Amino acid sequence: MLSGMSFNALGLDPKILQAVKEAGYTEPTPIQAAAIPPILAGHDLIGIAQTGTGKTAAFTLPMLTRLATVIGDGRQRGTLALVLAPTRELVLQIEENVKAYGKHLPLRVATVFGGVGEHPQINALRAGTHLIIACPGRLMDLMQRRYADFSRLQYLVLDEADRMLDMGFLPSIRQIVRSVPQKRQTLLFSATLSKEIETLTHEFQRAPKTVQIGRRANPAETVTQLVYEVPKSLKPALLLHLLRDPAMNMVLVFSRMKHAADRVARNLEQQGIKTATLHSNRSQNQRLKALKDFKSGAVRVLVATDIAARGIDVDGISHVVNYDFPMHAEDYVHRIGRTGRAHAVGDAISFVTHEDQGELRALERFIGRGIVRKKAEGFDYGAVVPHVAEDRPRHQQQRGQQRGTQRPQRSQHSSSQSRPPQGGRPQHGGGGHSQQGGGRPHQPVSGNREGGNEHRPGVRPQGHVRRYSPR
Ligand code: AMP
Repeated sequence: MLSGMSFNALGLDPKILQAVKEAGYTEPTPIQAAAIPPILAGHDLIGIAQTGTGKTAAFTLPMLTRLATVIGDGRQRGTLALVLAPTRELVLQIEENVKAYGKHLPLRVATVFGGVGEHPQINALRAGTHLIIACPGRLMDLMQRRYADFSRLQYLVLDEADRMLDMGFLPSIRQIVRSVPQKRQTLLFSATLSKEIETLTHEFQRAPKTVQIGRRANPAETVTQLVYEVPKSLKPALLLHLLRDPAMNMVLVFSRMKHAADRVARNLEQQGIKTATLHSNRSQNQRLKALKDFKSGAVRVLVATDIAARGIDVDGISHVVNYDFPMHAEDYVHRIGRTGRAHAVGDAISFVTHEDQGELRALERFIGRGIVRKKAEGFDYGAVVPHVAEDRPRHQQQRGQQRGTQRPQRSQHSSSQSRPPQGGRPQHGGGGHSQQGGGRPHQPVSGNREGGNEHRPGVRPQGHVRRYSPR
């Protein structure tokens, strides 16, 4: 999705134009074409755009153009710009972009986020680094200990403001904003314009211009969306089945819970599919390595939870698989925004169980369109996998997991429902014998959403009703 304009027409600094050219961008995207002129003119701005639209460059390019004149030869000290973002992954990606676009400027950039040693961050804040990109929590902590001096700050950017509110950062953000000069330019980006975001803009901005790309909550237009209706017990087999397609060469799989992400990854690894995981139980180094391996192609599949995956900016993701249907409609929009980024075309596949149907319909209302339901070609929907956790003692479940053989069996009740198509693969059905005995027919889904974790500590009890709140 390009704007048909030229970067040259936007009034950017020549050194930045040079860097943009070196990044391989030929034309601005619509959000860039719309947002760069008012930012250069000094206006506060509300940008309503999803990730994948080029919004980082939309605020970075004009901000760096304006900073270029202030920092001069670079000896100038003092933090002039602060970007707040919800997760460390997003912070690191913004840093990567800022460094690429500002590579011909004597610009000093630093990041601040939790989970890593604070001394380099303290030193950067003390040194008056020109541009700081930070998660609100750690920054607030360091500010309270008086390590930061934002008295010269001219630019404040709140990126993914909706997500920062969701994550409970509002009190920190308020305190941070109170400690920076009132005379500043404030840019706020959000995937959606909710009432809460509007309140925030009134509080933090002056006469902001609004730039909105696409309809509210409209998922990236380049992404082909599909739903596979599948019993929960067949999700692992369906994922493996889909991964037989070599076109699925760079696949981001979303699970709702950390331990479920680990379980999906373990299962794929056991089948010889190189997989990494990204969730908040993993250390910063493990997360960075997972992303690096995924980007480089060393692993084919990355299994992530929503928060950890926030802001993942990896070019060339071929498919996003919603292994677990997302909790919120906005998460869906963010998840599928990971593929089809900028100009690529990608597929977003959602596994939907019987229990997810109501939520699927709510999502369709939210995004204002229906999503195509499909049957996976060659997959045996008649196969039934025993309800491992419910029916077998824990030691047997573990053995089953270690072998990676949740052997399917055909249900007496489902045999008429969906015969395997010709050429269907035998291991998913064909009357494989039951390990539990008794040939229990498959049931849609039990009250527990996490499937197979019923005996684990810290997992919600059966019967828990999930919140689903398209906001
Ligand atoms: P963002 O929405 O900021 O996360 O950007 C999504 C992706 O689009 C990133 O990988 C950028 O490198 C890329 N991108 C940003 N602007 C352009 C452009 N004008 N032309 C091509 N790619 C772009």
